[in-house]
Amino acid sequence: MTEQQIKTRITELAQMNDAQWESLCKQCGVCCMLKHSRINGTFYAGVACNHLDLKTRLCDIYSTRLCHHVFCSRVDLSVVLRTGLLPDSCGYIEYIYGPATNQIKPDFNKIIHERDMNATADTIHKKTARGPWNFIIPESLYWRTRAMELRDKYADFGRDIVRRMEKQH
Ligand code: SF4
Ligand code: SF4
Repeated sequence: MTEQQIKTRITELAQMNDAQWESLCKQCGVCCMLKHSRINGTFYAGVACNHLDLKTRLCDIYSTRLCHHVFCSRVDLSVVLRTGLLPDSCGYIEYIYGPATNQIKPDFNKIIHERDMNATADTIHKKTARGPWNFIIPESLYWRTRAMELRDKYADFGRDIVRRMEKQH
């Protein structure tokens, strides 16, 4: 992708209505897992939000999640461009860059809920210190994701587009 193509795609995303935006989500559930993005990589833990149904990968409070779950944020253009947290195979990242080579599909049989971290830390992972980073998915170590490139190169471009559109309305 050229820089201009990426900017065009970002502009298209900024112009989408809610229905168009929601239709791009692949409902993979990955953004509902604990994660952390650093300069050198994005780390995913095999620990999901308590509201993620681990069988369907859907949120069980989706329509009211922003009122009831303080740590949940809507995946909007700002999250896509500024956090570096979404996987390469996220529908929004693929809209900008095209299909990802590596489709991130964690084995949800091995994913646990946040509330179960303490209960299983010793038995499954044989660690005494408990916390999400004992559950890092090894394949995610030092991923250099496309979302990180967006964060590093296109966040300001996206912010300017959104501001320009807000002024027009
Ligand atoms: S509350 Fe938010 S983070 Fe938790 S499952 Fe629902 S959408 Fe995902
Ligand atoms: S990672 Fe992207 S495609 Fe997957 S559920 Fe989250 S927003 Fe949707």
